Amino acid sequence: MVKQKTGWRLESSYTELPDRFYSRVEPNPVRSPQLVVFNDELAESLGLDPEMLKREEGVAVLAGNASPEGSAPLAQAYAGHQFGSFVNLGDGRAMLIGEQVTPDGERVDVQLKGSGRTPYSRGGDGRAALGPMLREYIISEAMHALGIPTTRSLAVVATGEVTLRKEPLPGAVLTRTAASHLRVGTFQYAAALEDRDALKALADYAIGRHYPEAAESDNPYLALFRNVAQRQAALIAKWQLAGFVHGVMNTDNMTISGETIDYGPCAFMNAYDPATVFSSIDIQGRYAYGNQPSIGGWNLARFAEALLPLIHEDAEQAAKLCQAELEAYIGRFQSEMLEGMRAKLGLFNKESGDEALIDALLKMMREQGADYTNTFRALSSAGAGKPDLFESNDFKEWQAGWQERLGRQEAGAEEAAELMRRSNPAVIPRNHRVEEALEAAGEGDLTVLNRLLAVLRDPYAYTEEQDAYASPPPPSDRPYRTYCGT
Ligand code: AMP
Ligand code: MG
Repeated sequence: MVKQKTGWRLESSYTELPDRFYSRVEPNPVRSPQLVVFNDELAESLGLDPEMLKREEGVAVLAGNASPEGSAPLAQAYAGHQFGSFVNLGDGRAMLIGEQVTPDGERVDVQLKGSGRTPYSRGGDGRAALGPMLREYIISEAMHALGIPTTRSLAVVATGEVTLRKEPLPGAVLTRTAASHLRVGTFQYAAALEDRDALKALADYAIGRHYPEAAESDNPYLALFRNVAQRQAALIAKWQLAGFVHGVMNTDNMTISGETIDYGPCAFMNAYDPATVFSSIDIQGRYAYGNQPSIGGWNLARFAEALLPLIHEDAEQAAKLCQAELEAYIGRFQSEMLEGMRAKLGLFNKESGDEALIDALLKMMREQGADYTNTFRALSSAGAGKPDLFESNDFKEWQAGWQERLGRQEAGAEEAAELMRRSNPAVIPRNHRVEEALEAAGEGDLTVLNRLLAVLRDPYAYTEEQDAYASPPPPSDRPYRTYCGT
């Protein structure tokens, strides 16, 4: 009989870095792994056979009970500024099982999250609870479908073990994939070693993996910085345009690849308000929706500090070069934002009054507490319910100005409407819908979760089924709260 292959093609280029960047770890088996959710489409794009992976032997790999061929599990070392304070960290509850080389020749990290203790676990148990891992699965896949660069979720496996949090909870392991898990915090870790060769090795590795063209530049490390800053500008603009609040933009949660990572306390904003915060521990609102672009800049400044010795031998010169790139980051963010907002309003060309038009709408939305997603959805689709905002005289006046502006562009009404439907999601993972799915899953009913995943798969489809998922949560006397490190 021919032995069927799952399709693992794992490599371990990360181990070419000096030993201090990682620790070899052993998989930590769990009692009785059971597959809860699996991403067929992602598996196929990785060159993995979904049916093989869903079998007992495949699930054992996804639970950390067996190692696939070619796997050399390791936990990565990194540091980070957490809410502004520098800390040494590392994968405390995750292990990289390897880098899968896909049929397209891409290299993709495959990581188990919740897979047990590592040398970087500090006081933690190395484990994860089912609810938060399913939450990461739902939101990361929704982000991908929205067109926002992100790590992805291949599977969630329940462990059959209890994870002790405030209360005993069912445990789970998430299989996450990423272009890489290199973070700003990885560079901060390298800089703190005060070993120029180690720092250079890391920077060369990042360039080779993500920005190979930077190697050709006169100053490859400045080019690395520029590329990361530009990628982050584009990413954070996409977050803002979608109303996404990351919630814990510590420097260890900012990738070098420009993918969104770490779906702990994140959530989508309902009523438009730049002060929106969901995380229970973000008392000062450091990571509020409206602060994300400037925090992105703050984090990049920490990245620059780590890279300075490679950028120029004269520290002052190095800082000046980075400062110019940080200004370019702001410029890029603003232009991505303006372009994205124009698209949300069906505008193809540029006019000098566009910013004022956009600002006026946002101001009204804020004053009237209008739902962010549904306001743009209603502007995009005649069939969608009209928010109360649309009844006000201010809005009617604004709308007349907007219609005039649309009339002045070459593109016709149909083209503009199409652009708007491509730019304004009909559905986002609403917090109450996510909670409802997690609650049912906790009781063993996966139908609610699967239905939610299905409507989120094509958020720009404007199907009838999505209408039911578009409503904001019913009014509550308590604000929605999310939690870190769950
Ligand atoms: P996060 O807030 O998820 O970005 O996590 C910050 C750091 O805490 C990372 O180094 C994690 O690996 C670590 N961590 C979070 N939860 C646990 C846990 N249950 N056990 C060990 N380490 C953890
Ligand atoms: Mg993290």
